[in-house]
Amino acid sequence: MVPAAGTGTRMGDDLPKQYHLLAGRPMIRHALEALCASPQIQRVFVVLAEGDETWERFDWTELGVKLAVLRCGGETRADSVLNGLVAISEAVKPDDWVLVHDAARPCLSLAQLDGLIEQVGEDKTGGILAVPVADTLKRAAPDRRVEATVPREHLWQAQTPQMFRYGLLREALSRSRIVTDEAGAVEALGYRPLLVASDTSNLKVTYPADLALAENILLERKGA
Ligand code: C5P
Repeated sequence: MVPAAGTGTRMGDDLPKQYHLLAGRPMIRHALEALCASPQIQRVFVVLAEGDETWERFDWTELGVKLAVLRCGGETRADSVLNGLVAISEAVKPDDWVLVHDAARPCLSLAQLDGLIEQVGEDKTGGILAVPVADTLKRAAPDRRVEATVPREHLWQAQTPQMFRYGLLREALSRSRIVTDEAGAVEALGYRPLLVASDTSNLKVTYPADLALAENILLERKGA
Protein backbone atom coordinates (compact mmCIF):
# COMPACT_ATOMS: atom_id res chain seq x y z
CA MET A 1 0.00 0.00 0.00
CA VAL A 2 1.39 3.35 -1.04
CA PRO A 3 -0.06 6.38 0.78
CA ALA A 4 0.13 9.28 -1.66
CA ALA A 5 -2.38 11.74 -0.31
CA GLY A 6 0.09 14.27 1.07
CA THR A 7 0.53 17.76 -0.28
CA GLY A 8 4.28 18.00 0.29
CA THR A 9 4.26 21.63 1.38
CA ARG A 10 7.97 21.50 2.32
CA MET A 11 8.77 21.24 -1.40
CA GLY A 12 7.73 24.86 -1.77
CA ASP A 13 5.14 24.70 -4.58
CA ASP A 14 1.57 23.60 -5.32
CA LEU A 15 2.27 20.30 -7.07
CA PRO A 16 2.01 17.42 -4.57
CA LYS A 17 5.57 16.15 -4.23
CA GLN A 18 4.79 12.61 -5.41
CA TYR A 19 4.20 14.04 -8.89
CA HIS A 20 7.47 15.96 -9.23
CA LEU A 21 9.35 14.61 -12.21
CA LEU A 22 12.41 12.49 -11.49
CA ALA A 23 14.36 11.04 -14.40
CA GLY A 24 11.41 12.08 -16.61
CA ARG A 25 8.72 10.33 -14.59
CA PRO A 26 6.52 11.28 -11.63
CA MET A 27 8.29 10.44 -8.37
CA ILE A 28 5.65 7.96 -7.27
CA ARG A 29 6.04 5.99 -10.48
CA HIS A 30 9.52 4.76 -9.49
CA ALA A 31 8.35 3.25 -6.22
CA LEU A 32 5.29 1.74 -7.90
CA GLU A 33 7.51 0.17 -10.54
CA ALA A 34 9.67 -1.54 -7.91
CA LEU A 35 6.62 -2.84 -6.03
CA CYS A 36 4.77 -4.01 -9.16
CA ALA A 37 7.93 -5.74 -10.43
CA SER A 38 8.32 -7.92 -7.34
CA PRO A 39 6.92 -11.41 -7.92
CA GLN A 40 6.29 -11.62 -4.17
CA ILE A 41 3.78 -8.77 -4.21
CA GLN A 42 0.28 -9.61 -5.40
CA ARG A 43 -1.47 -6.24 -5.42
CA VAL A 44 -0.33 -2.63 -5.19
CA PHE A 45 -2.84 -0.12 -3.79
CA VAL A 46 -2.23 3.61 -4.11
CA VAL A 47 -4.12 5.85 -1.67
CA LEU A 48 -4.86 9.23 -3.24
CA ALA A 49 -6.52 12.33 -1.82
CA GLU A 50 -10.17 12.45 -2.86
CA GLY A 51 -9.69 15.62 -4.85
CA ASP A 52 -6.46 14.54 -6.56
CA GLU A 53 -6.61 15.69 -10.19
CA THR A 54 -2.99 15.04 -11.07
CA TRP A 55 -2.97 11.22 -11.11
CA GLU A 56 -5.10 11.09 -14.28
CA ARG A 57 -2.64 13.23 -16.20
CA PHE A 58 -0.23 10.32 -16.48
CA ASP A 59 -0.47 6.91 -18.11
CA TRP A 60 -0.02 4.09 -15.60
CA THR A 61 -1.01 1.15 -17.81
CA GLU A 62 2.58 -0.06 -18.19
CA LEU A 63 2.59 -0.97 -14.50
CA GLY A 64 0.08 -3.71 -15.23
CA VAL A 65 -2.93 -5.20 -13.52
CA LYS A 66 -1.52 -5.37 -9.99
CA LEU A 67 -2.05 -1.65 -9.53
CA ALA A 68 -5.31 -0.34 -8.03
CA VAL A 69 -6.23 3.21 -7.03
CA LEU A 70 -8.11 4.08 -3.82
CA ARG A 71 -9.38 7.63 -3.43
CA CYS A 72 -9.67 7.71 0.34
CA GLY A 73 -6.70 9.73 1.61
CA GLY A 74 -7.04 11.19 5.09
CA GLU A 75 -5.74 14.17 7.02
CA THR A 76 -2.54 12.47 8.13
CA ARG A 77 -0.41 9.73 6.67
CA ALA A 78 -1.72 7.30 9.29
CA ASP A 79 -5.33 8.22 8.39
CA SER A 80 -4.58 7.59 4.71
CA VAL A 81 -3.10 4.17 5.46
CA LEU A 82 -5.96 3.18 7.76
CA ASN A 83 -8.58 4.34 5.24
CA GLY A 84 -6.79 2.28 2.59
CA LEU A 85 -6.70 -0.80 4.83
CA VAL A 86 -10.44 -0.47 5.52
CA ALA A 87 -11.15 -0.06 1.79
CA ILE A 88 -9.39 -3.32 0.88
CA SER A 89 -10.88 -5.43 3.68
CA GLU A 90 -12.82 -7.65 1.28
CA ALA A 91 -9.68 -8.48 -0.66
CA VAL A 92 -7.40 -9.55 2.21
CA LYS A 93 -7.22 -11.96 5.13
CA PRO A 94 -6.08 -10.94 8.64
CA ASP A 95 -2.82 -12.89 8.28
CA ASP A 96 -1.88 -11.49 4.88
CA TRP A 97 1.28 -9.39 4.88
CA VAL A 98 0.90 -5.71 3.98
CA LEU A 99 3.88 -3.56 3.08
CA VAL A 100 3.33 0.18 3.45
CA HIS A 101 5.68 2.30 1.37
CA ASP A 102 5.94 6.10 1.05
CA ALA A 103 5.24 7.56 -2.38
CA ALA A 104 8.10 9.91 -1.54
CA ARG A 105 10.75 7.13 -1.46
CA PRO A 106 11.37 6.62 -5.17
CA CYS A 107 14.74 4.87 -4.88
CA LEU A 108 13.60 1.64 -3.24
CA SER A 109 15.59 -1.14 -4.90
CA LEU A 110 14.45 -4.68 -5.54
CA ALA A 111 17.33 -5.88 -3.36
CA GLN A 112 16.09 -3.79 -0.41
CA LEU A 113 12.54 -5.00 -0.98
CA ASP A 114 13.59 -8.66 -1.24
CA GLY A 115 15.75 -8.31 1.90
CA LEU A 116 12.79 -7.01 3.90
CA ILE A 117 10.39 -9.69 2.67
CA GLU A 118 12.94 -12.45 3.26
CA GLN A 119 13.84 -11.38 6.78
CA VAL A 120 10.37 -10.44 7.98
CA GLY A 121 8.54 -13.26 6.18
CA GLU A 122 9.14 -15.67 9.07
CA ASP A 123 8.66 -13.11 11.85
CA LYS A 124 5.65 -13.14 14.15
CA THR A 125 5.41 -9.35 14.55
CA GLY A 126 6.68 -7.78 11.34
CA GLY A 127 9.44 -5.31 10.60
CA ILE A 128 10.74 -2.32 8.71
CA LEU A 129 13.68 -1.17 6.61
CA ALA A 130 15.98 1.12 8.60
CA VAL A 131 19.55 2.45 8.72
CA PRO A 132 21.79 2.89 11.74
CA VAL A 133 22.23 6.60 12.51
CA ALA A 134 25.58 7.83 11.18
CA ASP A 135 25.67 11.46 12.35
CA THR A 136 26.25 12.74 15.86
CA LEU A 137 22.90 13.80 17.27
CA LYS A 138 22.23 16.99 19.28
CA ARG A 139 19.12 17.80 21.25
CA ALA A 140 18.31 21.50 20.89
CA ALA A 141 17.00 23.93 23.48
CA PRO A 142 14.34 26.49 22.38
CA ASP A 143 17.13 29.05 21.75
CA ARG A 144 18.72 26.57 19.32
CA ARG A 145 21.71 25.93 21.52
CA VAL A 146 22.79 22.40 22.26
CA GLU A 147 21.15 20.96 25.33
CA ALA A 148 22.68 17.51 25.01
CA THR A 149 24.53 15.13 22.73
CA VAL A 150 22.38 12.05 22.27
CA PRO A 151 24.37 8.82 22.06
CA ARG A 152 23.69 7.38 18.62
CA GLU A 153 24.51 3.82 19.61
CA HIS A 154 21.48 1.63 18.98
CA LEU A 155 19.64 4.43 17.13
CA TRP A 156 18.21 3.70 13.69
CA GLN A 157 16.39 5.85 11.14
CA ALA A 158 13.11 4.25 10.11
CA GLN A 159 12.39 3.92 6.40
CA THR A 160 9.68 2.19 4.41
CA PRO A 161 8.42 -0.35 3.38
CA GLN A 162 7.07 -1.33 6.77
CA MET A 163 5.69 -4.85 6.77
CA PHE A 164 2.99 -6.14 9.10
CA ARG A 165 0.10 -8.55 9.00
CA TYR A 166 -3.14 -6.90 7.85
CA GLY A 167 -5.10 -7.61 11.04
CA LEU A 168 -2.43 -6.35 13.42
CA LEU A 169 -1.71 -3.23 11.38
CA ARG A 170 -5.37 -2.29 11.08
CA GLU A 171 -5.91 -2.74 14.78
CA ALA A 172 -2.77 -0.77 15.64
CA LEU A 173 -3.67 2.17 13.42
CA SER A 174 -7.27 2.19 14.62
CA ARG A 175 -6.03 2.63 18.16
CA SER A 176 -3.28 5.21 17.69
CA ARG A 177 -3.07 7.50 14.75
CA ILE A 178 -0.77 10.05 16.37
CA VAL A 179 2.19 8.20 14.90
CA THR A 180 4.50 9.01 12.03
CA ASP A 181 4.97 5.44 10.89
CA GLU A 182 3.16 2.10 11.03
CA ALA A 183 5.78 0.60 13.34
CA GLY A 184 5.00 3.31 15.93
CA ALA A 185 1.37 2.20 16.05
CA VAL A 186 2.35 -1.47 16.34
CA GLU A 187 4.88 -0.64 19.09
CA ALA A 188 2.13 1.18 21.02
CA LEU A 189 0.36 -2.21 21.25
CA GLY A 190 3.46 -3.63 22.95
CA TYR A 191 5.09 -5.36 19.98
CA ARG A 192 8.76 -5.03 18.96
CA PRO A 193 9.13 -4.86 15.16
CA LEU A 194 12.30 -6.18 13.52
CA LEU A 195 14.79 -3.68 12.05
CA VAL A 196 16.07 -4.83 8.67
CA ALA A 197 19.26 -3.06 7.57
CA SER A 198 18.81 -0.92 4.47
CA ASP A 199 20.98 1.94 3.21
CA THR A 200 20.67 5.67 2.67
CA SER A 201 19.82 5.34 -1.03
CA ASN A 202 16.21 4.65 0.03
CA LEU A 203 15.85 8.29 1.04
CA LYS A 204 12.60 10.17 1.55
CA VAL A 205 12.28 13.19 -0.71
CA THR A 206 11.23 16.04 1.56
CA TYR A 207 13.08 19.18 0.53
CA PRO A 208 13.86 20.45 -3.01
CA ALA A 209 17.53 19.44 -2.64
CA ASP A 210 16.48 15.80 -2.15
CA LEU A 211 15.09 15.74 -5.70
CA ALA A 212 18.51 16.00 -7.34
CA LEU A 213 19.95 13.38 -5.01
CA ALA A 214 17.15 10.93 -5.73
CA GLU A 215 17.41 11.57 -9.46
CA ASN A 216 21.14 10.83 -9.42
CA ILE A 217 20.56 7.54 -7.62
CA LEU A 218 17.89 6.50 -10.13
CA LEU A 219 19.94 7.49 -13.17
CA GLU A 220 23.06 5.79 -11.87
CA ARG A 221 21.12 2.59 -11.24
CA LYS A 222 19.71 2.67 -14.78
CA GLY A 223 23.27 3.10 -16.07
CA ALA A 224 22.57 6.53 -17.60
O1 C5P B 1 4.89 14.32 4.19
P1 C5P B 1 5.63 13.04 4.38
O2 C5P B 1 6.90 12.99 3.58
O3 C5P B 1 5.81 12.60 5.78
O4 C5P B 1 4.67 11.93 3.70
C1 C5P B 1 5.02 10.57 3.67
C2 C5P B 1 4.03 9.83 2.78
O5 C5P B 1 2.71 9.87 3.33
C3 C5P B 1 3.92 10.44 1.38
O6 C5P B 1 3.87 9.37 0.44
C4 C5P B 1 2.62 11.21 1.43
O7 C5P B 1 1.98 11.35 0.18
C5 C5P B 1 1.78 10.35 2.37
N1 C5P B 1 0.70 11.09 3.04
C6 C5P B 1 -0.63 10.66 2.88
N2 C5P B 1 -1.66 11.35 3.49
C7 C5P B 1 -1.41 12.45 4.24
C8 C5P B 1 -0.06 12.89 4.42
C9 C5P B 1 0.98 12.18 3.82
O8 C5P B 1 -0.88 9.67 2.19
N3 C5P B 1 -2.43 13.11 4.78
